[in-house]
Amino acid sequence: MASLVPMGKVPRSQQVNNVSRLDAETAWAAFMRRDRNWDGRIYGAVKTTGIYCKPSCPARRPKRDHVEFFASAEEARNAGYRSCLRCRPDEVGRDQRAVAKAVKLIEEAEEGLTLTELAETVGYAPHHFQRIFKRDLGVSPAEYARGLRSRRTEAALKSNGRVTDAVYDAGYSGPSSFYSDAKERLGMTPSAWREGGRGEMIRWTHFDSPLGQMLIAATSKGICRLTFDDSEESLIRLFPKATIIEDDGALKGLVEGALQAIERPLAAPDLPIDVAGTAFQEAVWRELRRIPAGETRSYAEIAAAIGHPKAVRAVGSANGDNHVCVLIPCHRVIRSDGSLGGYGGGIERKKILLAAEGHSPELPLID
Ligand SMILES: [Zn+2]
Repeated sequence: MASLVPMGKVPRSQQVNNVSRLDAETAWAAFMRRDRNWDGRIYGAVKTTGIYCKPSCPARRPKRDHVEFFASAEEARNAGYRSCLRCRPDEVGRDQRAVAKAVKLIEEAEEGLTLTELAETVGYAPHHFQRIFKRDLGVSPAEYARGLRSRRTEAALKSNGRVTDAVYDAGYSGPSSFYSDAKERLGMTPSAWREGGRGEMIRWTHFDSPLGQMLIAATSKGICRLTFDDSEESLIRLFPKATIIEDDGALKGLVEGALQAIERPLAAPDLPIDVAGTAFQEAVWRELRRIPAGETRSYAEIAAAIGHPKAVRAVGSANGDNHVCVLIPCHRVIRSDGSLGGYGGGIERKKILLAAEGHSPELPLID
């Protein structure tokens, strides 16, 4: 996560290779908003007081001219600054480590953990811990556990096909609680993809992400395209009969959700997706959606999971034909030997996405 520093208006050619480059305008905006999401990722140091803070520091904002920004607390200290006693910017790292540890505990737990058990294990008071967990992941520990159970049910359903077994295996008390929260997780709703998008309106916009400029396009049903280094021309090609319009703000929520999926994948919201392909492509894409953040699969595993164990190459192409990157997580597919394999958006982006999901950067770098 630490590598996901915003790049704002950095020229596109430099974005992927200079992920740690800090854009001062974005940093200043985060300080003005007192944005907790940027805590631990940028540090603002005040030249007149010699003190550095995290963005959410409650202290009065200094003049813009008096502030410089650093990507780590260490850099701020090396430049001669002391940490703020009020916002304690050095403790951000400790919070993040505790949240990561708690996520691991929840994932490994056979039975549900209480908030108190969880907080005690990572050394925090329950209420305080609930707050920092939610601040970092956007959901409470209980909500996180619920989402995990629901993803596991899908996996179990896939492997044994018996709903009731799968429901109990995944830790639900009974089928009704399963159906109530699994409903919105499955499925895509193809619409614009029939007949070149006839009768559909597709809105699109560009936005800046930690991975560089991205294009997002959506029908009234959901996101039909999310890509890197892309332009309106590809939409015109894919949907020759649709009405394609540049967005005037209606996509704001989807853009925010997509950014969250990149920056905080462990707690990414389920965004509506509107794609269609061949039956085989759709089976692959659906299977990709079942890979939890933080895990990877090989092409061979995906092929086996959709019932075509020999179609490893075809899985590779379907993976490459994915129109909605990140949300249909084709970056979570790697080669059987553990090397990264390719990525439509470039291998650097794949590394960054996997690192944000907690994969150690030195893990699968052979390519
Ligand atoms: Zn402060």
